[in-house]
Amino acid sequence: MTTKFMKEEVAMLYDSSKCTACKGCQVACKQWNVLYSPLGLNENKFTGSYQAPKDLNGSTRLIMTFEEKKTDNKIRPVEWAFGRRSCHHCTEAACAFVCPTGALKIESNGVVSVNKDICIGCEYCRMACPFDVPRYYATEETPKIDKCTMCWDRLENGRKPACVTTCQPGALHFGSREEMIKLGKQRVEFLKSRGYDKAELYGEKEMGGLHILQVCKFGHEAQGLPTDPKMSTMVSMSQLARPAAGLAAVATAGGLAISLIAAIGYRRKKLSVEEARKTWSDRQRKVGDELVVEELDKLKKEQSDQESK
Ligand code: SF4
Ligand code: SF4
Ligand code: SF4
Repeated sequence: MTTKFMKEEVAMLYDSSKCTACKGCQVACKQWNVLYSPLGLNENKFTGSYQAPKDLNGSTRLIMTFEEKKTDNKIRPVEWAFGRRSCHHCTEAACAFVCPTGALKIESNGVVSVNKDICIGCEYCRMACPFDVPRYYATEETPKIDKCTMCWDRLENGRKPACVTTCQPGALHFGSREEMIKLGKQRVEFLKSRGYDKAELYGEKEMGGLHILQVCKFGHEAQGLPTDPKMSTMVSMSQLARPAAGLAAVATAGGLAISLIAAIGYRRKKLSVEEARKTWSDRQRKVGDELVVEELDKLKKEQSDQESK
């Protein structure tokens, strides 16, 4: 079924200033997506933090994070900087570029979908992801990777993600990306007017634009979000091309660039880059090609700078 959420570029907005860290979203994610939790006695050890589990795992796609923030307020010297940790659905999704089977795919509405049927559990996506998101999910047959799917099955039926619909204080919103950016910016302005000078919207530009945007009340660092995240060096062809010398290096870099951005796994499986590209969506191809051109320009510049020295 083609619903409005499949036709337009969508995004989720998480507002840390409204979140009460009740974890209703974390539970809703488990329930809707039928993700098990260990139920045995003392299987979940107390870690000394409300953050539980401590990190994402094969059956946990979303966790609420509990960071503390010092303030200048004498009555309330420490405040919570609640955060949300899950896939960010990047426009330049490193995970999708390295996935050798096309199990991770950048859809036209911006969501990075997962097709578990063709995942081979190689974990290249985990190594490439700048946010360390995908997690290994051991099954009896082939191990798989799991991560947030933006509740793809709900979007297909015109319904908002499960985590969004459960949030009582209105900390989660879902709709067109344009609207979410507008809403996020309005909220940041409001917070700034209330003295939260570092309030900001995270995700408008990061990794080409994220589809999970976050209003960070105390700034992104307070929530443990990286500044200017980049594809891991594993997928950065400029790193690999650097040892090569001379003008030929630029051509070599082009080949490496396409191979690496396309999919490291394809080279290991001795399949051609062209074959890899056939499995990409139009969007993946466009972003991949742009990245190659950008990196080649950088390499050419480095080359001419070196020669003019
Ligand atoms: S349901 Fe809403 S308020 Fe509760 S933890 Fe999730 S985002 Fe925060
Ligand atoms: S956050 Fe990581 S797993 Fe999610 S789309 Fe971006 S690169 Fe892929
Ligand atoms: S969008 Fe769906 S899969 Fe993603 S965190 Fe929310 S409930 Fe979980």
